[in-house]
Amino acid sequence: MKLKCINCAETYPPEMLYSCIKCDGILEVYYEKDFVKNDSNSFNANLSNTMWRYSSQLSVEHHDNIISLHEGGTPLHFSDRYKKELDGFQGELYFKDETVNPTGSFKDRLISTAISKAKEFGYEKVVCASSGNAGASAAAYAAKSGIEVVILAPQSTPKEKIVQILSYGATVLLVKGHYSDSYKLAKDLSENYGFCNLSTTFLNPYGTDALKTVAYELDNQLKGEMPDYVLIPVGAGPLLKGLYQGYSELNKSLKSVGATIPKLIGVQAEGCSPIVSAFESDQEIVSAWEGSNTIASGISDPLIGYEKDGTYTLKLIRESKGVAISVTDEEIKKAMQDLSQLEGIFAEPTGAAPLAALKKLYEKNMIDPNSRVVCLITGHGFKDMNIYQKMDNNIHYIDNVNDIDSVRRILNIPT
Ligand SMILES: *Cc1c(COP(=O)(O)O)cnc(C)c1O
Ligand SMILES: [Zn+2]
Repeated sequence: MKLKCINCAETYPPEMLYSCIKCDGILEVYYEKDFVKNDSNSFNANLSNTMWRYSSQLSVEHHDNIISLHEGGTPLHFSDRYKKELDGFQGELYFKDETVNPTGSFKDRLISTAISKAKEFGYEKVVCASSGNAGASAAAYAAKSGIEVVILAPQSTPKEKIVQILSYGATVLLVKGHYSDSYKLAKDLSENYGFCNLSTTFLNPYGTDALKTVAYELDNQLKGEMPDYVLIPVGAGPLLKGLYQGYSELNKSLKSVGATIPKLIGVQAEGCSPIVSAFESDQEIVSAWEGSNTIASGISDPLIGYEKDGTYTLKLIRESKGVAISVTDEEIKKAMQDLSQLEGIFAEPTGAAPLAALKKLYEKNMIDPNSRVVCLITGHGFKDMNIYQKMDNNIHYIDNVNDIDSVRRILNIPT
């Protein structure tokens, strides 16, 4: 195992490095041996239903260092009802439900690995810049491991997310400005004050590497059948890279000649869509976004200071023959309601954004009606209750318990 720069291909021994020393490029974990399909390593029966069943393909060297709260191994739901909203759709639609991760988002895969590596490297304190979910995750895994943790989050972070982070006992610094400001401060703390940086952009190569397990699991759940499209909410893009990498490795292991990977659809919110903006104007380079404004806090990332993360993500989207698309807050809210009311999945705005994008793309005839589609539902509805509270609902107050007539009226029970 080595670290390898995606830019200049320089390699480094597996130490705690956050970017290429020569060119500042993004580093990735590089394994000498190819992925071996079905090499599920049941070293610990407790972990066999988690993403750590793939530990032989992950970067933690000593299993004693694994800090797990049961991340990954998430369900794949087949859609019966939402599917009908897509007029004439004859294909298969699935939801990969990442909301059931221990702290309610897929970030647990990344943080579980990054903090296990921090332990392996002997760190006693970690820092994480977060729009909420990575922070909750870092706080929980730090609690589990006894490592000191500081979370930096924008002051606009949803209250539920902050409360969750605090509940795990983390120290929280609410930083004025947007996510990129918190990110800058986290970098300073890790460069100068001995913190291991768990921030979930492309900084921590060990953390981002673990997101390929989403693809491994999908491959297993779909019995080797590949989706035609995977729709993914995109902030900086490590999750999308995980899908790209996972499917590329699967292809390689099967030695399938000319094999393709699913078309990866990167979904952003209209109020913060730097990658979509570059995609739509046929640019290769992503520029930072100014004035992010959306209810989708999980992807409200303007990329200021690490625009190269967006550029890399855009490149992977294009290589997969996918597209980048933005959705409005109104479209996201509708998707949240559809997802909960037609499928029983309760997601935060970001988590439902792929559904909004699917509808939009389908209506533009950009999704084949006979295709196999997977939406990644990335974060739990409990994380942002405020949005749901403002939506229409079906609540009625019964002041007199003996007044069965009004109850019957409400429930449409005829006399
Ligand atoms: C962080 C996050 C994303 C975006 O992930 P990236 O890997 O930064 O692109 C999507 N959804 C949720 C719920 C998140 O917390
Ligand atoms: Zn380099």
